[in-house]
Amino acid sequence: MAQKRVLIVGGGAIGLAIGWRLARAGCAAALFDRGRVGHSASWASAGMLSPLSEVQFEEEDLLHLGLKGLAVYPEFVSELEADTGCCVGYRRDGVLLVGITQDDLEYLKFRYRYQRDLGLSVAYLSGDEAREREPHLSAQVSAAVWCPGDHQVDNRHLVRALRKGLVAAGGEVFEEMGVDELLIDGTRVRGVRVGEEVFEGDTVVLASGCWSRLIPGLPDCARPPVRPVRGQIMRLAMTEDFALNTMVWYSRVATSTVAYLVPKDNGHLVLGATSEEMGFDEDVTAGGMFELLRAAWEVVPGVYDLPVVESLAGLRPGSRDDAPILGETPIEGLIMATGHYRKGILLTPLTALSIAEVILERRTPALIQPFGIDRFGL
Ligand SMILES: Cc1cc2nc3c(=O)[nH]c(=O)nc-3n(C[C@H](O)[C@H](O)[C@H](O)COP(=O)(O)OP(=O)(O)OC[C@H]3O[C@@H](n4cnc5c(N)ncnc54)[C@H](O)[C@@H]3O)c2cc1C
Repeated sequence: MAQKRVLIVGGGAIGLAIGWRLARAGCAAALFDRGRVGHSASWASAGMLSPLSEVQFEEEDLLHLGLKGLAVYPEFVSELEADTGCCVGYRRDGVLLVGITQDDLEYLKFRYRYQRDLGLSVAYLSGDEAREREPHLSAQVSAAVWCPGDHQVDNRHLVRALRKGLVAAGGEVFEEMGVDELLIDGTRVRGVRVGEEVFEGDTVVLASGCWSRLIPGLPDCARPPVRPVRGQIMRLAMTEDFALNTMVWYSRVATSTVAYLVPKDNGHLVLGATSEEMGFDEDVTAGGMFELLRAAWEVVPGVYDLPVVESLAGLRPGSRDDAPILGETPIEGLIMATGHYRKGILLTPLTALSIAEVILERRTPALIQPFGIDRFGL
C-alpha cells in the first residue's frame, strides 16, 4: 500500500506531537513552521497539567477531556523518552490553590464544593496545614485546596524531544517555511504552497495555534474561530535555601489576578500568567509583570529576592468556547488540531493520539467528537 503523506501546518507542541505519532506509525509526515518549531505558545507555557485545580464552572466536557489527557501522559512520556533518550521533566507535584482575604476564601470554598460535587479528589486545608505541605507559603495564607492529582511537564524539554522523535522516525521538519496557502481542489485538500513551491499531500493538519484561521486558502466552512489571548510570564532562579516543592496557584479576588508558581527541575521558578485580549501584541508590559509579582509575593514572599531569568509573552489559541477544535472538517483530508487555549500542553498527548487515529484508522474517537469544528455551525 502506498505510504500516506501528511502535511502539518505549525510546529508547536500540538503539530510536533501529531507528527511524531504519525511518523512512528510509518506515515510520511512533513511539518512546516514559519519560524523555529516549539518557540511560540508552547515555549512560553508553564507546563502545568492541572485539570483538577483549573476546572471551570459549567465546563464538564472539557474537564473530562483534561482528565483523560492527564491519564494518557505517563505512557506517552515513557514512549517519547524511550524513542529519543530525552527526559521531559514529568513531575507529580500537586497544586495548592491558596487564599488570603475573606473574599479569596469564599471563592476557594465555592470552588472546593464544585470540585467535590464533580467527584474530584481534593482536600480543604487550613493555612497551617498548607504550610506543612509548602513551607515557603506566607503566614498570610489562611486556607488552601490541595489538588494532589495535578502534575507538570517541562514544556521546553517536551517540544525538543518531540522534534527529535519526529525526525528520528523519518519525519521531515521545515523551519522558517511558513505555509502561504492551503491548496484545495473542489471539496478535497491537495497540499500546501510555501513561496513558489507546492507540497502535495493526502492529508493536511492545521495546527498553527492562534494563527490557524489566517492561513490563506481556508474556506469559511473550515476556518476555525480562534484568536490570540496574551499570557505574560516570567522565570526566576530558585536558590538552595528557596525551592518550592509543590505548584502554588493564587486567585487574587480583589484584582481578578491569577498567579501561579511552578518549580522546574533546572531550578527555574515559572511565575505566570496574565490573560489579555490584545490581538497579536506580544509585548511584555510593566503592568503585567507588576500584577504577577505582587500576587506571587503575597503568597510566597521569598520570591522577592530571587534573580529574574526571563520575562516573555505568548499567545494562547483561544476558541469561541475555550475548548479545542479537533478532527475532520467539511473539506476531505483537512484535519483540525487547534484552539487548545490554556490546556495545550495538557492536551498534547491526547490530541496526538486522537488525530493519529482519525488519520490512520479513519475513525474519530468518541472523546473528541464533541470538539469538532461542526459545533460552530460555520
Ligand atoms: C503564558 C502561557 C502559559 C501557559 N500555561 C499552560 C499550562 O501551564 N498548561 C497548559 O496545558 N497550557 C498552557 N498554556 C497554553 C499552551 O501553551 C497552548 O495551548 C499550546 O502551547 C498551543 O500549542 P500549539 O502547538 O497549538 O500552538 P503554538 O505553540 O503557538 O504553535 C503554533 C505554531 O504554528 C506556527 N505557524 C503559524 N502560522 C503558520 C504558517 N502559516 N505556516 C507554518 N507555521 C505557522 C507558529 O510559528 C507556531 O510555531 C499556556 C500558554 C501561555 C501563553
